[in-house]
Amino acid sequence: MLNLVLFGPPGAGKGTQSQKLIEKHGLIHLSTGDLLRSEISQGTELGLEAKKLMDHGALVPDAVVIGMISHKLDANKDAKGFIFDGFPRTVAQAEALDQLLASKNAPISGMVALEVNDDELEQRLLLRGKESGRPDDANPEVIRKRIKEYNDKTAPVAGFYKAQNKFKSINGIGSINEIFDAISGVIASY
Ligand code: AMP
Repeated sequence: MLNLVLFGPPGAGKGTQSQKLIEKHGLIHLSTGDLLRSEISQGTELGLEAKKLMDHGALVPDAVVIGMISHKLDANKDAKGFIFDGFPRTVAQAEALDQLLASKNAPISGMVALEVNDDELEQRLLLRGKESGRPDDANPEVIRKRIKEYNDKTAPVAGFYKAQNKFKSINGIGSINEIFDAISGVIASY
């Protein structure tokens, strides 16, 4: 089973690369951001609560996203593997994910981090906001808050996987295909 954590700040290209990886490897894509936006569009109570935090660029509580991932793992028991995109975003989420996967005997194969500098991220997110209409991409203040949340709470997750010798970082600036080739090279080493 291939279980990949695609890591990096908002706007690093995780969603774009996930699409190419699921096509090539037949994996299930688990993006907690997409799952939350789906709850919002369905108008669920969970979605309404999450939206208040997401609109300000703050993380939603660990228990909420861990519950969503647990549900999706159970619902895809025959999967060849998973790409985790935007999850885990805290060390507590990473610990919970290890426990969920231990019960399935299918540990994380590795984490691949896409490195992109803050100026480039801000420009990419503002452009995406114009194209997609995502409210949290439209406002520079919210974008900076999301990058700060990433640096404060999410960046330490890299250390969690480094301690398990499962961390690789690659340059996230370049053409989509160049970056995809670099990720594929890492996957080939598993
Ligand atoms: P994303 O689509 O990954 O950029 O996520 C959009 C927003 O959803 C984030 O700014 C958070 O508010 C929320 N979110 C997504 N994934 C998580 C997570 N794993 N933990 C906490 N909040 C999350």
